[in-house]
Amino acid sequence: MELNKARFIIERLKQNNFEAYYVGGCVRDHLLKMQSNDIDITTSAKPRDVLNLFKSVPSGLKYGTVTVIENNVRVEVTTYRKEANYEDYRRPEEINLEASKEEDVKRRDFTINGLLMDEHYNIYDYVGGMKDLDDKIIRAIGIPKERFNEDALRLLRAMYFQSKLGFEIEERTLKAIKEHSDLIKHLPNERILNEMLKLLKGDYQLMAFKSLELTNLHKQLDGLEKGIEYINSHINENLYTDTFFTLCFSLHGKVPSSWKFSNVHKNRYKKALNLVLKKEEISELTLYENGLEISVLANRVMFYLNIRPLEISKIKEMYNNLEIKSMTDLKVKGSDILKLTNKKQGSWLRELLDELVKKVLMKELKNDKEELLSYVREKLNEK
Ligand code: ATP
Ligand code: MG
Repeated sequence: MELNKARFIIERLKQNNFEAYYVGGCVRDHLLKMQSNDIDITTSAKPRDVLNLFKSVPSGLKYGTVTVIENNVRVEVTTYRKEANYEDYRRPEEINLEASKEEDVKRRDFTINGLLMDEHYNIYDYVGGMKDLDDKIIRAIGIPKERFNEDALRLLRAMYFQSKLGFEIEERTLKAIKEHSDLIKHLPNERILNEMLKLLKGDYQLMAFKSLELTNLHKQLDGLEKGIEYINSHINENLYTDTFFTLCFSLHGKVPSSWKFSNVHKNRYKKALNLVLKKEEISELTLYENGLEISVLANRVMFYLNIRPLEISKIKEMYNNLEIKSMTDLKVKGSDILKLTNKKQGSWLRELLDELVKKVLMKELKNDKEELLSYVREKLNEK
């Protein structure tokens, strides 16, 4: 989103005698000439004032945040705040909205995320963020160890920003992450997963994987330890999200139940992992039983694990030429078979149909009604 689209918010706040600045990621991204996903504004105005001045919703009143939804933008406007007494390594117990802009940036995570910018693009830097942005460094604001103890998500956020920006993590910050890596077990899995998914979209994910291992943070990520170590020593290209998780879980031997994946993803990883563990060469039957997506995923992972060559285009072609993609493609229906026998419908029928599909896919039978029915007749007479 373009910063200018939110300029009216800063202007209106100022006309009403409040201070207001762009802050955080959007300032960082603007200086790096990168596209920002969202815009944050920080202001001396209290949530009540913001709600009065704009079409807006109280999206996080507890934290002083109001979301302005006006002129086709959604912008989070947060009152300057100080925080104290963090509970369970996650969120502050006390939010103090009587703070200055300087105090507000000091509660933020990394120096490159602690820059303020006014509507004329002047920068206000109380944390040394400009230099770190120039030097491409991720550095905790304040005393790293304290900042990670306040909020353990910051451990993973450091890795995410590395993956997104390709910056180095500053030495003391890195050391603190290493010493406090076990803090992430205090986080609910949803938040870890969310951060991992962001990390996996970064152009520099391989750098982040190296840091995850270097700090032992990878040992706190259920089922990912062996995978991350394998990637660091064997792979030098970025992985798709599904490939990453399937590869890790294959080396781990199963999909850990702790990860809060959607059912679609969980099933995908489980099925692909089964193919990988069986070192299965993708055949017509595999494609019929698992579909194209899972088969391709399994092949990719087996390729990275040096089990099989990469055969994506061959697999796609095989899929396109598949005689039978679903049971309805079989030229014989259950009702055709029932006409040949006095037997009542039952599981035998389903099994027989499955067998026919299998034989057609393995080219032992043609998908031809007569040929299939004569096979069925023989089979029924045997018993
Ligand atoms: P992204 O490009 O992913 O949006 P961002 O830096 O904008 O990165 P957000 O999660 O959108 O990150 O948060 C906006 C700003 O809020 C950050 O730049 C930082 O200043 C502050 N912030 C967010 N999360 C934390 C946290 N856990 N601890 C301290 N400050 C944080
Ligand atoms: Mg942001």
